Amino acid sequence: MIVFSLQCSKNHSFDEWFSSSADYDTQKKSKAIACPTCGDKKIEKALMAPSVGKSAAAPAPACGAPACGNGACPMSGVR
Ligand SMILES: [Zn+2]
Repeated sequence: MIVFSLQCSKNHSFDEWFSSSADYDTQKKSKAIACPTCGDKKIEKALMAPSVGKSAAAPAPACGAPACGNGACPMSGVR
C-alpha cells in the first residue's frame, strides 16, 4: 500500500491509499477519486511529506573541539 497526498482543483488536500502508483493512475483516469470535501474529481498529487526537506537540511553534528567553527575544524571531515 502507498499513500498519496492529493489536492482537488479547489485546493482541498487529503490523503488517499492506493495499492501502487499505477493504481493511482488507473483510478485517476477513470475518475474514481473524488475530493471528500467538495466531491471534485479534478485531482492532482500534492507536494509530498513536509518532513523530507527538514531531515535533509539538518546541520552536521558538531565535532566538540573547542576551536571548531566555520567548517575549518579538521574533525568536521571525520565520520
Ligand atoms: Zn475539494
